[in-house]
Amino acid sequence: MEDYLKGLNESQFEAVTTLQGPLMVLAGAGSGKTRVLTMRIAHLITNGVDPFNILALTFTNKAAKEMKERIAKVVGQSNAKSLWMGTFHSVFARILRSEAHYLGYPSNFTIYDQQDALNVLKKVIKDLNIDGDLYKPKKVLSRISNYKNNLITVRAYENNPELIEADEKANMKFMGKIYKKYVDECFKNGSMDFDDLLLKTNELLTRFPEVLAKYQDRFRYILVDEYQDTNHSQYLIVKALASKFENICVVGDDAQSIYSFRGANIYNILNFKKDYPEAVTVSLEQNYRSTQNIVNAANVVIAKNLQQFKKNVFSENEEGEKIKVYRSLSDADEANFVAGNIWELHNREQRKFSNFAILYRTNSQTRAFEDALRRKNIPYKVYGGLSFYQRKEVKDLLGYLRLLVNENDSEALMRIINYPARGIGETTQNKLIVFADAQNLSISKVLDSLPIYAPHLGFNNGVITKLSDFWSMIKAFQVLLKTETAYNVAMEVAKRSGLIKFLKDDQTPEGISRVENVQELMNSMQGFIEEQMQIEDGDPSLPNFLENIALSADTQDKKNGDEDMVSLMTIHLSKGLEFPVVHLVGLEENLFPSFMSSSTREDLEEERRLFYVALTRAEKQAFFSYAVSRFQWGKITDAEPSRFLSEVDDEFIEFLNPAIEKRFINNSGITSNIFDEYPSEMRSFKKVEKKTISKSESDKPIAEPRKLKPVSTAKIINPSGASSQDIEVGD
Ligand code: ATP
Ligand code: MG
Repeated sequence: MEDYLKGLNESQFEAVTTLQGPLMVLAGAGSGKTRVLTMRIAHLITNGVDPFNILALTFTNKAAKEMKERIAKVVGQSNAKSLWMGTFHSVFARILRSEAHYLGYPSNFTIYDQQDALNVLKKVIKDLNIDGDLYKPKKVLSRISNYKNNLITVRAYENNPELIEADEKANMKFMGKIYKKYVDECFKNGSMDFDDLLLKTNELLTRFPEVLAKYQDRFRYILVDEYQDTNHSQYLIVKALASKFENICVVGDDAQSIYSFRGANIYNILNFKKDYPEAVTVSLEQNYRSTQNIVNAANVVIAKNLQQFKKNVFSENEEGEKIKVYRSLSDADEANFVAGNIWELHNREQRKFSNFAILYRTNSQTRAFEDALRRKNIPYKVYGGLSFYQRKEVKDLLGYLRLLVNENDSEALMRIINYPARGIGETTQNKLIVFADAQNLSISKVLDSLPIYAPHLGFNNGVITKLSDFWSMIKAFQVLLKTETAYNVAMEVAKRSGLIKFLKDDQTPEGISRVENVQELMNSMQGFIEEQMQIEDGDPSLPNFLENIALSADTQDKKNGDEDMVSLMTIHLSKGLEFPVVHLVGLEENLFPSFMSSSTREDLEEERRLFYVALTRAEKQAFFSYAVSRFQWGKITDAEPSRFLSEVDDEFIEFLNPAIEKRFINNSGITSNIFDEYPSEMRSFKKVEKKTISKSESDKPIAEPRKLKPVSTAKIINPSGASSQDIEVGD
């Protein structure tokens, strides 16, 4: 037997070695699902399947990278390299690039991240003279995202009275108008947002059978990790691609479905047997990751959810320490405790910093921890949040680069047309936008023929000169791109555009760090080029670099490698990962469960799944903490302990502030204790639970998680409105 098969238990072995036909592994956290997927790919290759024919979809880029490394160990680097493995977005962006012409897109289309999309939306809302206070771009974008992920195109929306009515009821009657203009605008800019990458892939596979056939033949074996968090759009792509050979293997855990707010549909995994009646299903019960104490505690909590597949998960690892609970005075105090604790364990137990994770519910909680860690000189890395590539100075330089690659990207163009300031003021910019809109031209086209259009625009000679100078500079950069490496071009851009000089003029610490960030971007580009040169079919081009960073939001750091650092991330981002020691922080009502989530049972159950995900990341030790007051929304607010704390039975936890506990238990005042000024009782959270969720509420039937009505037939239109075609997208 091959070595890599030896370490598997019986069920894992079955899942790894059943190579043909549909297969589903539905199993609890830490039971080896991802390991099974990895070994199965290795096994396919060992059994003669060409890696070229394998497609593996993961939830994060990080997961894809780790998996590939593990597979390479079994089957060798060169085999592992030809695998298609990555997130849905990165894999299908690549396919869309080669097939873009089918959809009327340029192959160098820009990928808009959320911030770009929001900028476009802001402009759309303004152009339509719609009240931006009522139509907050974030809210509007999330609705549009919801439409797209359910394959409701503009046309489908316009033909769906129920949706229109629902939006009217929600006081959002202009949604249709905004949606249409937003889609038009993106198309005109030659750009796709993240949801488009899936929506357009669906369009491509549905409208063009020859394209579908090509990729069906190519991807004979399809594997999907974290299948419980696929949305409708992703589900349809996988289904279409797998429908010829039906060699599809999905692994997931319904108890870890935590993305319903982004359209994830838990029924994709629960209905797998319906889609593929022949499917072999395997369940895994042994958790290899965590101590018994952690596994049992997690089981007890998740059992409180009504909506779930009952699973038996056990651990044969050591019993382990109890989960330690720390009650802090404030968010700063909590952060100090966590940093101090990490420092102590690092010294006392010789734990590496990379053994630790700090997990929180929302990104805004990061800052206090960063401060505390910095004070103790503990190295750390923040994942997600405002990523390096989203910092203004970085985006500004990227704006230039994006424009060089795709001239039609008006979002990028307007970002840098007067940055650094070159006398092209707002009035001029507005005239350009309005004129281009009216002529249905991109701004770049107007600039291309400025002498012809200038009289209609009413520009004086001074303005014309400034615009021509700017545009000639861009054109010169484009010429450079043909002969120079991406790095050299970027360097030229940074210098000749005046960007570096502008940033260097600001000698404040922030200014200096901005220059460093631009330098860091250049470094990351150099690193990327070198990396690509080492890969057989590597692509060190600027478009590929830009695509890579647009899609790497989850691995915010540009540096790779395993530096010894504490990891800070939201629970959402921690899915699939594991750490010897986990600090789960901010366990307070209205924070976790979040304020928005405690009103309906479905939302609360999703928060509980999130709690389950967080706890099951821990291998050896878990620490819970909460603060009794927290600086939030600009003021100090009182906080109550999270109901989830009370859902973990006493036998699994131990309190780190025994003095407080004693005071509560004895009900006798303790005089000289720093906590005295905080009168709330130690275990008051036992009461919170009953107060906030009523019995009747938890008895309510469960609604399907998909918020929108399923569409059996949607119409996809070419966003330009030029041509359209109906497509079947029924499930
Ligand atoms: P999650 O639900 O959190 O994604 P998972 O089911 O994907 O978890 P893995 O990450 O694959 O679980 O495995 C959890 C840990 O257990 C890993 O460190 C893995 O190497 C280890 N493991 C899995 N199966 C075995 C086994 N048969 N023997 C020893 N270790 C194992
Ligand atoms: Mg996993």
